Amino acid sequence: MLLKSKIDDLKKVLSKDKILFGEEERYCYAEDSANIRKETGIPDLVVFAETVEDVQQIVKYANIHNIPIISRGAGTNMVGSCVCMEGGIVLNFSRMNKILEFNPDDMTMKVQPGVVLADIKNMAESAGLFYPPDPANFKVSTIGGSIAQSSGGAKSFKYGTTKDYILSLKVVLADGTLLRLGSGTIKDAVGYHLNQLIIGSEGTLAIVVEAELKLIPKPESNALITAYFDSIETAVAGVNGIIRARIFPSTIDFMDKNAINTVEKFYPSGLKTDKECMLLIEVDGFASSIGTQLNRVEKALRENGASDIVSVFGKDDMEAVWTARRASYGATAKLAPDVVTDDLIVPRSSLSKMVCGCRDICKKHNLHVCIVGHVGDGNVHPQIALNLENDEEYKNLMDAKSEIYSLAISLGGTISAEHGIGIEKISYAEKILGNDVIEQMRKIKTLFDPTGILNPGKIFKM
Ligand SMILES: Cc1cc2nc3c(=O)[nH]c(=O)nc-3n(C[C@H](O)[C@H](O)[C@H](O)COP(=O)(O)OP(=O)(O)OC[C@H]3O[C@@H](n4cnc5c(N)ncnc54)[C@H](O)[C@@H]3O)c2cc1C
Repeated sequence: MLLKSKIDDLKKVLSKDKILFGEEERYCYAEDSANIRKETGIPDLVVFAETVEDVQQIVKYANIHNIPIISRGAGTNMVGSCVCMEGGIVLNFSRMNKILEFNPDDMTMKVQPGVVLADIKNMAESAGLFYPPDPANFKVSTIGGSIAQSSGGAKSFKYGTTKDYILSLKVVLADGTLLRLGSGTIKDAVGYHLNQLIIGSEGTLAIVVEAELKLIPKPESNALITAYFDSIETAVAGVNGIIRARIFPSTIDFMDKNAINTVEKFYPSGLKTDKECMLLIEVDGFASSIGTQLNRVEKALRENGASDIVSVFGKDDMEAVWTARRASYGATAKLAPDVVTDDLIVPRSSLSKMVCGCRDICKKHNLHVCIVGHVGDGNVHPQIALNLENDEEYKNLMDAKSEIYSLAISLGGTISAEHGIGIEKISYAEKILGNDVIEQMRKIKTLFDPTGILNPGKIFKM
């Protein structure tokens, strides 16, 4: 708990309207989107940074007085990455939400950390350009949070993740120093790529106060195919068939029967409920190529037993299908008091074993699971509806999680593709990475943040 004298000091440094100190107000920032049964603290103070100088001043003060700093975008990460274990100051970036520069000719954009991804996408599209990373909640999540989690999304299959679209970062270090990492050029071979080290570091190494993004030309046209299968194995064979047909879809997403049924129960969207699973395959490119791509995709899917194949054209109709897919987490949340989601990734050749294995493990532990995923990448999201307050269900969840992680590892995969580690997966990450690797990570953390004030207690234990 921060002493009153320190809070008074900070009130002198920043104007009053940038600080929340009421208990009820601070409580709103105690949690994020992770559903974890763990007591976490509440912040001592919430600060709405408006300028880079605000960030530097707060961080300098916190560094001298050993106060934790927890950066926060929209708070939508799924792993407890911005909860406040030991109190401290939440640095809220919702007021640093401006697009600072947009250079269509260079295909770059400079943004503040609190800009919402949808605004970046819309601005890029206004000039025929494209910012591809698309976590399913891109309409609310911020670029700062996405950089810190190295977020992915449905379009990672063809276009990669956040890390592939960062040209340079301005960051504030734990002692308040401002650095620019990266030159902003498309290629840069001068020294270590420290900006890539910050990406995915979950706010533990430095605070991002500006990012320069790479954009690409927006494909002229796109279309979506939905296809239903009688088994997970045939759906995966369909995915491989598409790739063998030399088509590179922008997304290959997946919903299993439980996910489809749950969406239809709460957000009826016209999905077919009698099949084992469905694939959502989007193709893009020149308008003249779309027909050829759809024909080849359809042929590959039919050869692997797909039925009810429907092509969807036009922004609104495609958006309606994607909304159904994105509604799956919210729909699963309505089945029980709580929902937890996970984020496994395996080589695509092991995908059906992973999906079927998740189902079997959940069945064994009496857990209701809806499975969705970005299966082009081999990325599977089991969404489990349960009551975390029920001791038996909680134990079942923990047992199932650990078996699911072991399965992912045994299949050559890992325990997070895009959500990160936060506090939720620390013990598993430590096991997977091993002592030697964790020790190197600790050294890097100490180099960047000697007093350990930046988002303490996340990713690994010091
Ligand atoms: C319904 C739903 C669907 C989702 N779908 C996907 C998906 O498809 N793919 C995917 O990858 N993720 C997905 N996520 C997870 C989430 O969207 C991403 O992690 C997200 O991009 C985080 O953004 P945020 O603004 O909410 O960050 P926050 O949750 O606020 O913060 C995340 C991390 O970033 C740090 N941070 C925030 N701002 C800064 C900064 N300026 N400098 C340094 N560190 C900072 C925080 O300390 C924290 O460690 C989903 C989440 C939800 C709720």
